[in-house]
Amino acid sequence: MHISSKLPNIGTTIFTVMGGLAKEHNAINLSQGFPDFGCDPKLLELAQKQMNAGFNQYAPMPGVIQLRECVAKIISTCYTQNYNPDTEITITAGATQAIYTAIAAFIHANDEVIVFEPAYDCYIPAIELHGAKAICSQLDPVDFSINWEDVKSKISAKTKMIMINSPHNPSGAVINANDLLELEKIIAGKNIIVLSDEVYEHMVFDGQLHQSVARNKTLVNQSIIVSSFGKTVHTTGWKIGYVAAPKELMVEFRKVHQFLVFAVNHPFQLALAEFLLDEKNYLELKHFYQAKRDLFLKLTSSSRLTPLKTSGTYFQLMSYKTISSETDTDFAIKLTKEKKLATIPLSVFYTNKYDNKVLRFCFAKKDETLEQAAEIINKL
Ligand code: GLN
Repeated sequence: MHISSKLPNIGTTIFTVMGGLAKEHNAINLSQGFPDFGCDPKLLELAQKQMNAGFNQYAPMPGVIQLRECVAKIISTCYTQNYNPDTEITITAGATQAIYTAIAAFIHANDEVIVFEPAYDCYIPAIELHGAKAICSQLDPVDFSINWEDVKSKISAKTKMIMINSPHNPSGAVINANDLLELEKIIAGKNIIVLSDEVYEHMVFDGQLHQSVARNKTLVNQSIIVSSFGKTVHTTGWKIGYVAAPKELMVEFRKVHQFLVFAVNHPFQLALAEFLLDEKNYLELKHFYQAKRDLFLKLTSSSRLTPLKTSGTYFQLMSYKTISSETDTDFAIKLTKEKKLATIPLSVFYTNKYDNKVLRFCFAKKDETLEQAAEIINKL
């Protein structure tokens, strides 16, 4: 049988590859982004309560109203923008499904979508599966800021979407208020949608504010915001996220959502809705992860690796330029096999595999895991 692959150049995602290698070699796993500690036991009790109460059949297609109301409240509290939970918020099976659904709903064959590189790995395949083209704009290799002149030069009559991601995976960089103004100017009067991946919205450090597109009263009218509860409440395995968008966009989003997934895990949605009534459960996350970042940096301060600036997310980039000239993939594989520490090489987030000798470390780990990892890093 001849199979004509729709993704001929794509293999298995790096997260599965490095996670598998870590397991095989019994290495400390700072590769795939997920916490190695549990969530709040209260959240588990709430999930159990909802299952025992019989909420084990299909949830409503757009998500349970309690959770949509909760999302509306979080967005209005944090970014002073009001979304109608009935018509402008949808609960999704994580951010990956939300992103795929948004692209499926709005991107036609031969359209162009502007993507910033390094880019999270699910963006470009989703664009290409719909017969469209990703037009890549490179972030600065040191501070990962956006080159808006380059973006302007890449806008064409075919541009239908700009995908942004702040706090940014893999770099940990964040955009500022001026970036939102630049974006606003670029899309003004054009049929361009902004798809804003804000899954790390509650992890912005050093007193900075998360610059959600929801803060910009003009941009918001042309934007789809995507987030993920997995990051916020330490349950990446629950795969529940949300999308917020103006009603006209949400009508189209739901047309696809209803056939891609229909509805999302019912009892866990109800549990999240109750858990997130307490603002502490998302507002304090930034302090928790800033302390993890600071601990990781302190523990590795005597190492020969050079940390890059992390302003958000749970990822820390480190350059190994002073240690080796090997490719980042070779270096990461060797580090896993020989030194028992798994990381992600940065080049996988670039179409052209640009290799600046940088690795990504996930610090969403118990302090003792970070201590063990630091011992290895300090001996490199
Ligand atoms: N977002 C996680 C990361 O960047 C991985 C999620 C996944 O494995 N798809 O590590």
